[in-house]
Amino acid sequence: MMTTVQTAIFCDFDGTVARRDVGYSLFHHFSSGRNDELIPDWKAGRLSTRNCLLQEAAMVNTTEEEIYCFLDQFELDKGFPSFVNLCQAHNIDLLIVSDGLDFYIKYLLRRNNLGHLHVIANSGRVENDRVIIEFPYRNRTCRKCGSCKGERIREYRNNHPQEVRSIFIGDGYSDACAADEADVIFAKKDLEKYCTVHDIDFYRYNDFYDVARQIVELGYVISDKLARSNGADL
Ligand SMILES: [Mg+2]
Ligand SMILES: [Zn+2]
Repeated sequence: MMTTVQTAIFCDFDGTVARRDVGYSLFHHFSSGRNDELIPDWKAGRLSTRNCLLQEAAMVNTTEEEIYCFLDQFELDKGFPSFVNLCQAHNIDLLIVSDGLDFYIKYLLRRNNLGHLHVIANSGRVENDRVIIEFPYRNRTCRKCGSCKGERIREYRNNHPQEVRSIFIGDGYSDACAADEADVIFAKKDLEKYCTVHDIDFYRYNDFYDVARQIVELGYVISDKLARSNGADL
């Protein structure tokens, strides 16, 4: 009997798909750096992501136009578009899971012709020069995250009758719950530290070319031809 395994890749956005942390930079810029006073408490787990985001948003008073103009400077990982194609060609589900805000994620994806990707994030919009934040995703047990990536992975698994192989790619502390949950982890920066401290196995990566190479090596995709034809230097 053949058993099918559905491979699902969950990708962090800030600092992972986008080379820099867009959410942090946005609030840093439009709060004139005042959001920095929140970060130590957030990193130490004393301040929840929801409270942190709401306090950061309260520091911003600027036009929608200025915000989108600011967003135009951010670039995606150069290997990401070909990585998307590689997943598509192999029937791998690719989901963006972020504890940032959907409006800048969708804007930057659209600008890179990737507007079709599924995004699971907190909801944000600019209204009357204010950033309005809502939390459409409910967390059953996690009190730390806005939208808990670990719980989103668990929900995906519960919604799929076949066996699921979950792969998570991330770079920061907001990825901790996902690292506890996923079968295979790709980590850099703060997530690499977290995995090391908590004795979680992971693959180190710098960009999506590295991730593509590794999942080919692991046999999760059967051929790297497509990625190569799209300019990935595999
Ligand atoms: Mg990140
Ligand atoms: Zn969580």
